[in-house]
Amino acid sequence: MAKLDEHPSVVRHRERPRTVEATALDAGWLRQICLDAGADDVGFVAIDRPELGEQRSEILAAFPGVRTLVSLVCRLNPEPIRSPARSIANQEFHANYDHVNEVTRRIVRVLGDAGVPAMNPASAFPMEMDRYPGRIWVVAHKPVAVAAGLGQMGIHRCVIHPVFGSFINLGTVLVGREVSDQGAPVDFNPCVECKLCVAACPVGAIGPDGHFSFSACVTHNYREFMSGFTDWVATIADSRDGDDYRRRVPASESASMWQSLSFKANYKAAYCVAVCPAGEDVIGPFLDDRKGFLETVVDPLKVKEEPVYVVPGSDAEAHVARRFPSKTIRRVRGLRPVSIAGFLFGMKLNFQREASRGLSATYHFIFTGREPAEATVEIRDRGLTVRQGLAGEAQVRVTADSDTWIGFLNGTRSLVWAMLRRKVRVRGRLRLLAAFAKCFPS
Ligand code: SF4
Repeated sequence: MAKLDEHPSVVRHRERPRTVEATALDAGWLRQICLDAGADDVGFVAIDRPELGEQRSEILAAFPGVRTLVSLVCRLNPEPIRSPARSIANQEFHANYDHVNEVTRRIVRVLGDAGVPAMNPASAFPMEMDRYPGRIWVVAHKPVAVAAGLGQMGIHRCVIHPVFGSFINLGTVLVGREVSDQGAPVDFNPCVECKLCVAACPVGAIGPDGHFSFSACVTHNYREFMSGFTDWVATIADSRDGDDYRRRVPASESASMWQSLSFKANYKAAYCVAVCPAGEDVIGPFLDDRKGFLETVVDPLKVKEEPVYVVPGSDAEAHVARRFPSKTIRRVRGLRPVSIAGFLFGMKLNFQREASRGLSATYHFIFTGREPAEATVEIRDRGLTVRQGLAGEAQVRVTADSDTWIGFLNGTRSLVWAMLRRKVRVRGRLRLLAAFAKCFPS
């Protein structure tokens, strides 16, 4: 090692002044660095905080040295987000996401120069697409922001900051040091439960009782992101020729996909954020004139003529038909699992509670072959429970080869074909299996 010790880089490195001691960072010092970098608010969360739950191991895998998560918000401008012209709203979303990423990068640079290791996962995209359709994000920013005291979740499933309301984007910096003081969750929820987000969502993703339909939201709002994009590619591949493709996809939708590929993916709605009046800075116009707020902010989004993407047979399709006569229903394929683990996890995301109305049954699933697994699925009172293993008495028992079952879910294998070849065996009433299938349209 003598030679390495004498190397000019090593000698110069050792002569450098140590700017920050390897002890806990001062919270006030770190906060000021974040504000100077452009954050509008900031809070700190230690890596061992219980609120991080299962994502702790994912974060440690990305950055084993992390000791503290710095959560920060950057404000969106409300008026562009509220415009029925979605190009204006998307420009604002993307500009602010870029801003958050610049802010977190600046923080990492300042900390790095001070001898503090730090890392900045993306505020939104890019994500780890090799894991798609599983967990693609490195950090789930929302629970970190809540733990840091930057807001609480509204019924629209976005974090509402007490001052800036829903008009924020979130960022997280992973820091390799402890910090002298941490944030604590805000002791009230800024959501005023006005239910405007319920009224404005074109696909009924948000229930008045707080229920949230992930599949409805991802199918429409994220049509030009992961699952919608892969469905569009499949539509191209399935088309016989140009005329057939044009019959399936209007020119405006092809052009919209081009726009998303060229200028970042478009959100189709995000109306829940647009109409949300919560937050000290934002709530004034709603309090002053609720009727006027509805007429100028909510109604233009509700009556806007536009395509709305739904899975055939979904609760969302029925909702659009019932509530939004000026919108055009576009039937598309939804999220499709590529593994049994994905199927069992995805059931919670794809469950259509209105389609399950009146159904009360327990199902046992036994998967054999490449991905053996056992699960118990209960559907009652418009609710779903999925458990590992076979529990209690089941009205229906399905024993299936795992690859065949995934093929059936993806439309490449017929259930009748699979049953004739005993790749899928069903014990119990087929009527209950048909009712089960209706709860998970894809
Ligand atoms: S729109 Fe109203 S109900 Fe919905 S999240 Fe905002 S404050 Fe809560």
